[in-house]
Amino acid sequence: MYTRKNIKPATLVAKADDYIDTNTGAITPPIITSTTYARDDRYQLINESNVYGRDDNPSFVQAEHVLTELEQGEAALLFASGMAAIASCFYTLNSGAHVVLPDSMYWGVFSWTRTYCDRADIRVSYYNTADAESIATAMKGAARTDLVWVETPSNPMMHVTDIAIAAEIAHAADATLVVDNTTPSPVFTQPLKLGADLVVHSATKTLNGHSDVLAGAIVTKKTDERWEKIAAERHGAGAVPGPFDAWLLLRGMRTLFIRAERASQNAQRLAEFLEGHDNVEQVLYPGLESHPGHSVAARQMVGGFGSLFSFMVVGDAQAALAFVGRLNLIVLATSLGGVETLIEHRHSVEPVETRVPENLLRLAVGIEDVEDLLDDLRQALK
Ligand SMILES: *Cc1c(COP(=O)(O)O)cnc(C)c1O
Repeated sequence: MYTRKNIKPATLVAKADDYIDTNTGAITPPIITSTTYARDDRYQLINESNVYGRDDNPSFVQAEHVLTELEQGEAALLFASGMAAIASCFYTLNSGAHVVLPDSMYWGVFSWTRTYCDRADIRVSYYNTADAESIATAMKGAARTDLVWVETPSNPMMHVTDIAIAAEIAHAADATLVVDNTTPSPVFTQPLKLGADLVVHSATKTLNGHSDVLAGAIVTKKTDERWEKIAAERHGAGAVPGPFDAWLLLRGMRTLFIRAERASQNAQRLAEFLEGHDNVEQVLYPGLESHPGHSVAARQMVGGFGSLFSFMVVGDAQAALAFVGRLNLIVLATSLGGVETLIEHRHSVEPVETRVPENLLRLAVGIEDVEDLLDDLRQALK
């Protein structure tokens, strides 16, 4: 297996599982598109790791090794999307189970869990995302809790949850702690080290980083019974990405550290600029000292506060939409973690019951020259 504890994570991902093809000497891996694998005259597989495309693929395995190292776990699995990875965690629960979810989280997870848990007879309680201690209160809603979910900083309100406290509370009740680590990426937060049992990713975002692959991943602290169930879910339901997507992800991850570091530095500059602007009501970025979660974030995030933040312009939804309409460089689109800066008016895309303020804009900062981004924001705010 691929473990070299003396090598730094940035080196590990740059070398992408250290591939050298023994036949050709090629230093980048091929894409194996085969869905099936031959057996010899004794009906034995020629390579035991490869049986059928729904089980595994050499391109998945390489990306999974890199993810395992990045999150410092025991194993990782790639999925067809972040949501497919997240759904697999819930599919391992039995009916009658109890889960504790944050009251501010990525909309797709919030709405899918609400529908799925209702149909599967899984009880859901919510805690205050900005206060990990409130997980204990939410647990009192049931005799036992099976799963606790954390997403920090949360989407798009940027609440910070203390992962170590969440782990302590979850484990005292024998519950599994899952952390959605999409927003910070493993460059800035490593939840398994802070006590999480599973880490999930939308690899569509910062891990791939180029807005051209849909993929998900789960990394586990232990290859235990729970992990076997998740692996069986992926295999059984066929929730795997295509080999080309896995290959693109592996290629995207090679530049993860320089992308994530640059985007985070840009985000910090933009957040500081916006915080000082008269036409901005509030900036929600844990990298700002004014943010209520700053001290927890500074403890559990290492080297930066990530590329995502939200801010409220002075005025109503019309003011927010007029502002984004004046932007020239920054693209109006959903998603995050790509090399190009995107802005989104979440209130327009979430259903009516959303609690996202109507003047809130979510900025997913890319790796452009920060002066160009500042100029664009400055002229649009006039
Ligand atoms: C995008 C995202 C997801 C869903 O991932 P997909 O790859 O779009 O399925 C889940 N959680 C967070 C925090 C995300 O940003």
